[in-house]
Amino acid sequence: MADNLTRVQRHHCMSRIRSRDTRPELVVRRAVHREGYRYKLHDARLPGCPDLVFPTRRKVIFVHGCFWHRHRCSVGRILPRSNRAYWIPKLSANRERDLRVRRQLRRLGWVCLVVWECEAKDARRLVQKVNEFLCY
Ligand SMILES: [Zn+2]
Repeated sequence: MADNLTRVQRHHCMSRIRSRDTRPELVVRRAVHREGYRYKLHDARLPGCPDLVFPTRRKVIFVHGCFWHRHRCSVGRILPRSNRAYWIPKLSANRERDLRVRRQLRRLGWVCLVVWECEAKDARRLVQKVNEFLCY
């Protein structure tokens, strides 16, 4: 299955692994673990290399930074003042890739959850959100 990854996907996955220990992601991992769920990290065989993978439930969680992935919150609406010709296409490409990846995963029978950086700041809501997603 790993061989089906294109070079671009593989590169994307490697770059994600390098940035894996971001604070919001660690917060989500700890919360999920504390609730008793076990997962694999960054499965490179899956589209988009999801951050947390629950193989027996066939569910994945992505932890997305609000700026990079264009969340509909105040941070996700920020546009850098300079070099917009560079940033605007880059940020919308990120968003389009996220949508594409989730579509691919759905087609393979996986259910996806996105936890946004800003949501990870509210511990109680975060726990509720992951429980609702994982409990059934
Ligand atoms: Zn946000």
